[in-house]
Amino acid sequence: MNLRCYVAGLALAMGVQSGCAAKEQRQPLASDAVIDAAERAPLDPFAVSGRWNKPFVPFTVIGNIHYVGTEGASAFLITTPEGHILIDGILAQSVPQIIGNIRALGFDIRDVKFLLNSHAHIDHAGGLAGLQRASGARMVASAADRPTLEAGAIGFGPTKDMAFPPIRVDRVIGDGDTVTLGGATLTAHMTPGHTQGCTTWSLPVRGADGAQHTALFHCSTTVAGQSVHPESWPGMVAAYRATFAKLRAMKADVLLAPHDNFFDLEARRARQLAGDANAFVDPHALGRLNEEMAKAFEGELGRQKGAAN
Ligand SMILES: [Zn+2]
Repeated sequence: MNLRCYVAGLALAMGVQSGCAAKEQRQPLASDAVIDAAERAPLDPFAVSGRWNKPFVPFTVIGNIHYVGTEGASAFLITTPEGHILIDGILAQSVPQIIGNIRALGFDIRDVKFLLNSHAHIDHAGGLAGLQRASGARMVASAADRPTLEAGAIGFGPTKDMAFPPIRVDRVIGDGDTVTLGGATLTAHMTPGHTQGCTTWSLPVRGADGAQHTALFHCSTTVAGQSVHPESWPGMVAAYRATFAKLRAMKADVLLAPHDNFFDLEARRARQLAGDANAFVDPHALGRLNEEMAKAFEGELGRQKGAAN
């Protein structure tokens, strides 16, 4: 029992109500004050240039998958009759937008039961603590990204030293593990490289025409300002290459990703608005992105090796 619950226990003995005993396992890591301050903090120039907090009108991508993110960073809501699953929290400052986007589509943040994360960078994990507070949802994350999520900071890469409210991880998942809710089953695929615990999720989804599709929530395989030579962590280069090989063997025809440019968000949404119900269905998109990223990775590795000589 922690001190806070011990004190609450004394209060309870004196007849004061407290939910501490039941909630002891579910204490948040970030206080309300920390979350509130982060949500109100001015945006970092990096966040402004990436359009990470620029509003975007929410919409249904396909079936029960909805886009509730910003223009430059994604958040996906998967709705089911038994509650919802939310992938990624963008920035702390994005939390009110995400909650508003969910509401605009006719859903309620309080019905979100699980929070998932592509990877533990501030632009995808910064809002998770605030979203956990608003929903009471269980945070599901990989073992390798868990320490970053629970520290609210990462020691390398482009978002190094950009702290965010730490998020309590309630369930650790590994490769092939699933999260099931209301008939929807998401499968975790470990795709390390961009972070050590970078997690790609897949989900079967039915299109408007009744056809079955496979959605893939791509973690990210971009180098994006990270040091790959020398490696930011041991085994980084091998991990990237194994991830490219793994994704090359995967089949999915609805590619979704943490940033708009990786899955042509604006162009596909424009086509959808023009009447193409299958604007996000593209069996070649994953392969195309994967080869482009693999080529960019090898190019950047060569460049960094050259610069080091
Ligand atoms: Zn990232």
